[in-house]
Amino acid sequence: MEIKSILFPTDFSEGSSQALKYAVDLANRYGAKLHLIHVIYDITRATGWYVPHRSVEEMYKELEQGAKKELERFGVEELSGVKNIERSVHMGVPHEEIIKFAKENKIDLIIIGTHGRKGIDRILFGSTAAQVVRFAPCPVLTVRLPQY
Ligand code: AMP
Repeated sequence: MEIKSILFPTDFSEGSSQALKYAVDLANRYGAKLHLIHVIYDITRATGWYVPHRSVEEMYKELEQGAKKELERFGVEELSGVKNIERSVHMGVPHEEIIKFAKENKIDLIIIGTHGRKGIDRILFGSTAAQVVRFAPCPVLTVRLPQY
């Protein structure tokens, strides 16, 4: 078995930080490339809500810039020992983008927390982790927070 590339999707939540330890350890053990991705919810696609065009574009530009910065900061200490890391921000419905990324980049393993952010995201979109497990083209390692 070869694990050359690992996908770690993050929403920057506590559940995701817990899962990061496994991603770092496995990437180091296998000498694999670690892809860190964040997906910005495209609310218009997911809900069909009408939002004026220009305000949406501006909002997503700001969200993208913020997400890129957060992704750079996320888990810096844990990730300092990993040689090959690539970070990217995507737009869409999180589980769809995660699956698409895994297929396009021939990912060997996805590592994901079972709990993410709560609130409107969860109400609108349900569990990202469950959908990823269901549709992933490769094995998925799910990591639960101890309190659950
Ligand atoms: P959930 O199933 O929605 O509670 O989220 C579980 C896990 O899915 C999180 O810990 C993240 O690893 C991943 N995840 C959720 N939302 C996103 C997102 N927008 N971008 C990337 N990963 C996400």
